Amino acid sequence: MPRGLLIVVSGPSGVGKNTVLNQLLAKKQDLFYSISATTRAPRNNEVDGVNYYFITKEEFIAGIENNRFLEWAEVYGQYYGTPRDKVEEKLNAGYHVVLDIDIQGAAKIRQNSPEAVLIFLLPPSIEELKQRLVGRRTENAETLKKRLAYVHEELAAAVNYDYFVVNDRVESACAKIEAIIIAEQCRRNRFDFTAFKRNFLL
Ligand code: ADP
Ligand code: 5GP
Repeated sequence: MPRGLLIVVSGPSGVGKNTVLNQLLAKKQDLFYSISATTRAPRNNEVDGVNYYFITKEEFIAGIENNRFLEWAEVYGQYYGTPRDKVEEKLNAGYHVVLDIDIQGAAKIRQNSPEAVLIFLLPPSIEELKQRLVGRRTENAETLKKRLAYVHEELAAAVNYDYFVVNDRVESACAKIEAIIIAEQCRRNRFDFTAFKRNFLL
């Protein structure tokens, strides 16, 4: 069983990471979405253990001390982290593991797992991004400001990613990510060419 790909998806708040990934996950059975832990409060439609593990700041700090996070970061004033155990287990089982994490988390993954595939989701325009974030109706004036104030820094970090996907239409963004996964599996360094040649020559 070949090891799955570790796929990072980042992008400014409201660009559509959740929407695109949910659609992709519904379609592709070989993807595993890593559920993060966070100290932020759940939104109306969010369920503990489905969207996030919603935990207290004390629990989060205990998690850091016990090395339970593959990476973690403070984002928009809250803590977010990727639980370590599931990721390894699912990669070894052949699943492509998707991390929806911010630019700081992505930098840590790049450092520790250089083979990871980093995808940055871009909005069609800044106006459209604002409209989506406001239209989602999850943020108050303060958190909205915090999230929008970070966009330029996020876009500056995008140059460190392997792929840009513009989320114009959800279906086309999904198709592009699917294409990236296929192309990455064909890369010379991921392909067991030695085994292939052995078969070929026999
Ligand atoms: P993120 O997870 O990046 O913060 P969401 O997935 O919550 O963003 O999307 C933010 C809002 O934008 C949601 O209301 C969602 O329905 C909407 N949205 C997402 N993708 C698109 C798209 N391609 N076109 C129009 N609206 C979109
Ligand atoms: P939201 O509060 O909108 O769900 O997420 C806010 C930001 O935190 C997004 O950029 C999202 O990608 C990021 N995020 C979610 N989970 C994690 C995580 O486990 N680690 C890091 N570093 N960022 C995360």
